[in-house]
Amino acid sequence: MPEIRPATFETVPEFVPAERPKRRWLVPAAVAVVAVVVAGVVVVSRPGDAAPEAVTAAVSPSFVNDSDRRSRLIDELLARRVAAFKAGDLKAWLADIDPAAAKAIAFETKRFANLRQFRFTSFDLSASNVTATAVFDEKPDVIIDQISRLTADVDRSVIPYNWKLEFTGDTVRITDVAPSYHQAYENPLLFPPFDDVPLKSASAGGITIAAAVGSKSNPQAFLPAAQRAAKLVRSLWGSRPYATPGFVIFLGDHKQFLKWYDNNAGRQGAVGVTVFPRPADEEGTEQFDRPNPTVMHKPNEPSWIRRGAGSRIVLDVSQFTSARQAESVMVHEMAHAIAPHLIQSKAGGYGPKATNVQATWPIEGFARWVEFLGTPGYAQSAMRTVRAGRAYRPAGPFPPSEGFYAADAKRQSYNYNLSSSMFLAAEQAGGRQKAVDLYVCLSNQMEYQADTEMFINTCISGVGLNPSTVWTAQRRLAGSQ
Ligand SMILES: [Zn+2]
Repeated sequence: MPEIRPATFETVPEFVPAERPKRRWLVPAAVAVVAVVVAGVVVVSRPGDAAPEAVTAAVSPSFVNDSDRRSRLIDELLARRVAAFKAGDLKAWLADIDPAAAKAIAFETKRFANLRQFRFTSFDLSASNVTATAVFDEKPDVIIDQISRLTADVDRSVIPYNWKLEFTGDTVRITDVAPSYHQAYENPLLFPPFDDVPLKSASAGGITIAAAVGSKSNPQAFLPAAQRAAKLVRSLWGSRPYATPGFVIFLGDHKQFLKWYDNNAGRQGAVGVTVFPRPADEEGTEQFDRPNPTVMHKPNEPSWIRRGAGSRIVLDVSQFTSARQAESVMVHEMAHAIAPHLIQSKAGGYGPKATNVQATWPIEGFARWVEFLGTPGYAQSAMRTVRAGRAYRPAGPFPPSEGFYAADAKRQSYNYNLSSSMFLAAEQAGGRQKAVDLYVCLSNQMEYQADTEMFINTCISGVGLNPSTVWTAQRRLAGSQ
């Protein structure tokens, strides 16, 4: 079962609004290290595929001809709808839907309006299992993959839909369209917001922010803070390769936050989450992670150059108590979102614990440290809480991944802040770029390595820092000496 990583609470006393002195507000947030286990299920066979031999032998030539004809009809239907979407032609987008299919028309009208608010570099529809079913059925159910890449993405990703079709002579009509989310596989891309509610949005400078029509959140009002956050994260990232060209942010109320890109399972206590769709090729086949082809790459270069197609940030605006907090959460999530190739899918995390997954602390510690950069006083306050939190001190130098997102809010906050102390120390020893280098290097390490001082030192010295200088600074910050 893929591990969805929830949640964090934070207490930052200096941000407490004056009129609510006792209130503890929530700072960031978690990375949903997310994976989609649909590839083998969705990709069965395609209209262009040769029919399996056993089938062609068993059916008469007329069935085969029917299959070919129907596949062609479906391909033409898909081509018409893709053209209609790209042209922004709602009438043409709906033209192949049965006029009596009110539910399908409503769903596709809503999706059209929602999707058209995003900028795409590619948008395609592909039929997956048509040959197998359409041979025998006048009214087949087919899975149609929507394969698209936003301008904010580094790759295409795929979302499957169930269509019901009806063949009559030489025509085919759509009688139903519904999400096909493969709940059985715990697909963390369940319930994309654009399938759920009509959206309103605002875009500028490679950032798109969307919220439900009728919600109190005004995407336009969040844009300036999002742009400041993006500028900070992007300038920190510099010219490093494989960064996402843009950011997509969804503003939800509490219920929507728990639902969007999730299955209502794992985000209690979080205020933000970053979700990474799996990369797919132009046919909709999900792609394997791609390692850095330079085997002997430098320690500050990533070991993987492709693991996510992009990123989707979802925020729970109902928990924000100030605009400044919202900006801090956006900084945190963008620090995750900008480099999807550094975040490992958890779906394949079988085998001995900790030997095949990356550690949590470098990911969350880095994102927390990036928050510090735009917020004077935050680092000092966070380190004070670490020094005061002796009860939570882990056995190793940093919190283990198991239990990192503790239900105890104070403990969870401690875990984030203790983890960030390594990046603060690296910054003190060698500047911000060394801290980013260290994050890249540590993200390459497996959990059992990243928890060990010896392996951490290979990264510290690998990026050109002196381990004893860095550990001295880290111990002073965290009070663990
Ligand atoms: Zn996080």
